[in-house]
Amino acid sequence: MAIQKPKGTIDILPGQSEKWQYIEEISRMVMSDYQFHEMRTPIFESYDLFSRGVGETSDIVSKEMYDFLDKKNRRMALRPEGTASIVRAYVENKLFGPEFNAPYKVYYMGPMFRYERPQGGRQRQFHQLGVEVFGSNNPATDVETMALAMDLFHQYGLKEFKLVINSLGDITSRDTYRSALIAYLEPFTEQLSTDSKARLHKNPLRVLDSKDKGDREIVKDAPSILDFLNEESLQHFEMVKTMLEALEIPYEVDSTMVRGLDYYNHTIFEIMSDAEGFGAITTLCAGGRYNGLVEEVGGPETPGFGFGMGLERVLIALDAENVEIPNINELDVYVVGLGEESNIETLKLVQAIREFGFSAERDYLNRKAKGQFKSATKLNAKVVITIGEAELESQTANFKVMKTGKQETISMKELYKNFDKVYNLQTTDMTAFNDFFNKED
Ligand code: ATP
Ligand code: MG
Repeated sequence: MAIQKPKGTIDILPGQSEKWQYIEEISRMVMSDYQFHEMRTPIFESYDLFSRGVGETSDIVSKEMYDFLDKKNRRMALRPEGTASIVRAYVENKLFGPEFNAPYKVYYMGPMFRYERPQGGRQRQFHQLGVEVFGSNNPATDVETMALAMDLFHQYGLKEFKLVINSLGDITSRDTYRSALIAYLEPFTEQLSTDSKARLHKNPLRVLDSKDKGDREIVKDAPSILDFLNEESLQHFEMVKTMLEALEIPYEVDSTMVRGLDYYNHTIFEIMSDAEGFGAITTLCAGGRYNGLVEEVGGPETPGFGFGMGLERVLIALDAENVEIPNINELDVYVVGLGEESNIETLKLVQAIREFGFSAERDYLNRKAKGQFKSATKLNAKVVITIGEAELESQTANFKVMKTGKQETISMKELYKNFDKVYNLQTTDMTAFNDFFNKED
């Protein structure tokens, strides 16, 4: 039997890869507007980075890691998320130093790996676009970063999504809340799922995040973290809301929302799709503030804010909203070469056209004119240049603009020398221009 791809992975084929390029291109443009710079870190790291950075009790580390021993028995892992690696690189390269502009703002884009049960919008190798900001406690950083995420979705052409925010407060607020939550959950211990039971004392906030139906019923009436925020945490959260309003960004507050990762505090947020037919899993993007993580990984006390966006889910949203993706791989010229004798001239001409910066394609199978024209139409070529026996003889070519049907004979010499000028002249639609002058007459 032929070998198949690993479960939970996909081949992104031509026809689909253009959609990825579209998203990637827009993302890079938006990142530049916000002055975020790209950072590329290794796809695998030491296991300990994630167990420390993401948290031992998280689903990601406890169940979903692709970890392995290398040939020298070092425990390694394929990265399940981006933040821990970026923080490691930030610390290891001392990017907190005075020669670097603070806040330090980076983004990453690439594959992540989690051993999960594959389903729509959930794969074992998937792709995230994420950003991290280091060194700012200003709530404006929280809001600008959320605005950036919202802006990305707008620029992709999506309309039906919403921003949901919450605050986990600072460590003091979180500790007070933690005790209150344990006190609330303890009487339900026996009814909780096995996972939640194990987390009840280790990390009770995680119980709020449980997807188990029974757990969800129990946590429905749990105390709200927002009632436990101390003065400082409350002030930060109020300022975040005021600033979102100043930018006229609509949002909802969901006090039961906690994020799966251990390191969050203060503002956390998710962006969810509202699109009909999106499917059950609607979170496209999630993130928040993580003061404390840089220290955890061995760096100086540094506030952080970031998010991770699932690109497969962005693609599902684009489909669900029927967003039209522009063709970024257009064909300018198809060269029809007729007969074996035209092979070398065709070869030279497509290369010359490409060197002028236009895209060009040709036939390689010595097909008849009809078959070649069919390909040109299918590829949506804007221009078809034909070289037949007569043209070879006279060193000319037939230049046809497909949209208008306009044809002209052009000398080969002119094509090789001034292709750009010929192309622009021939393809310029003169109808509007002529209409205008005819009217003036
Ligand atoms: P979920 O609750 O769906 O499991 P998560 O909390 O594990 O999500 P994060 O770790 O916050 O997700 O990752 C951020 C984003 O990455 C998610 O909102 C989602 O869009 C995407 N994502 C996470 N896991 C997967 C996966 N296995 N396949 C595809 N996309 C994923
Ligand atoms: Mg998950």
